[in-house]
Amino acid sequence: MSRSIWALWKWPLHWQIFLAMLAGAFVGLALNFLTGARDIRVTEGLPQGWQAVEIRERVGSTRLRILRDDGGETELRVEAGETRDGTFATLSALRAIHPDVASVLDVHGGTWATTIGNACRQLGNLFLRMLQMVSVPLVVTSLITGVMGLSGHAVGRMFALTAAYYATTSLLAILTGLLVVNLFRPGLGGQGAPTGEGTRSVIASEPPPIGEVLFSQLENLIPANPLGALVEPNFLSIIAFSIAFAVFAMRIGGATARRVHEAAKTGMEVIMAMTHAIIRLIPLGVFCLMLYVTATQGADVFRSLGWYMLTVTAGLVIHGCITLPLILRFVAKRSPTEYARALSPALLTAFSSASSNGTLPLTLTCVEQRAGISNRTGSFVLPLGATINMDGTALYEAVAVLFIAQWHFGENLPLTQQIVVAVTALLASIGAAGIPQAGLVMLVIVLQAVNLPLELQGIILAVDRVLDMGRTTVNVWSDACGCAVIETLEHRVTLRDIPPDAWE
Ligand code: ASP
Repeated sequence: MSRSIWALWKWPLHWQIFLAMLAGAFVGLALNFLTGARDIRVTEGLPQGWQAVEIRERVGSTRLRILRDDGGETELRVEAGETRDGTFATLSALRAIHPDVASVLDVHGGTWATTIGNACRQLGNLFLRMLQMVSVPLVVTSLITGVMGLSGHAVGRMFALTAAYYATTSLLAILTGLLVVNLFRPGLGGQGAPTGEGTRSVIASEPPPIGEVLFSQLENLIPANPLGALVEPNFLSIIAFSIAFAVFAMRIGGATARRVHEAAKTGMEVIMAMTHAIIRLIPLGVFCLMLYVTATQGADVFRSLGWYMLTVTAGLVIHGCITLPLILRFVAKRSPTEYARALSPALLTAFSSASSNGTLPLTLTCVEQRAGISNRTGSFVLPLGATINMDGTALYEAVAVLFIAQWHFGENLPLTQQIVVAVTALLASIGAAGIPQAGLVMLVIVLQAVNLPLELQGIILAVDRVLDMGRTTVNVWSDACGCAVIETLEHRVTLRDIPPDAWE
């Protein structure tokens, strides 16, 4: 038995990750099913004057009934969303007003599903921290090495090609989203439409206008303090400064350029070695993160908003499995299945972590070492893509807003309004960070553009994390496909030279 478990370690990495993902989901769902709900009555160790506290725990919500000696009763709830009368968005919000109730929950609250799920999230986060640890030095060294391998003219050309690719694929993704949401009409179907109960917003204040969001992205391109950008980290600032640094080192030329290039190459070698070591731990990280999501969210999440989820998923599948592979086949002249296989460790990690930025070190390693993309293309296209190219997010924004509009108005938005949604969804996806649920935060901008009440965002909150996993995978897949496309357009691809699989 122990020998067969040990043999798993020798399996190809993408199979290990896939297996870990399934195992995590299975264990999480089982935990949720068996231990996700609990009703208890606490009578011991309560503050003076309290007779009993009844705690009713379900996935994502806890209801408390405090029964007093004098016959009085108070009902309180803790559930994600807005803090208002008797309802608290988090345990900390409850603690601020009712510390005595919170301490009863500290001692007696928490189903096994949430307790184990949260412990696994902490373990999974350790793995994400390791990836974050290498991401800034990897982006800096790899970008400087990549840019210094190009001529000054080629940098401009690469930038123009990359921007054109990002804009084209994001628009195609939005059109796909609009197509499926008009076809499926999830908000009008009845069976998929959620009830108004629980409608609430995660965003308490007014969202900034889209112009302001885009201008702040422009400001990010000029870091007032490059070291601050490294510490934060602000990827757009880091990318802009690293490119400028490399370009000016090339301008100086001679021994200076040689030394900068050598130093960047040496740094990159070391960071790559660290990344490889971290990559061995992916199956464990993926197992923990999948277990956390399924144990704490359960299968109910899939049932209540099924029709809407189906629409977003259909759009993501069309874009990820038809549109991008067609571009890969006909523009980049690459086999989509082989390319996807080479990228599978990155795609599976993007799925379970829901973070393009977190997956970046892995995406870089996969395109360069498993898919035969040159360092200069990978290091240029991927960091920029993880920050501003988000096809999955753009598609999701379009579907979510049209779904909410259908549900709210009882009919589809007119074409002119759908065009407004398309344009704002594109801009919002550029503004979204490559971190979990950033797309949800940007959704308010699109809702506002078509004058929909912001609190309606609450109806899709419950399923956002699950959809985030799918859209992040498409975001990373699009960035990776962009590398192949730009490599080919730059006439640099040498398909015969693809190195043997490094990890198999
Ligand atoms: N989680 C996504 C990403 O990292 C962004 C989003 O929330 O849509 O790419």
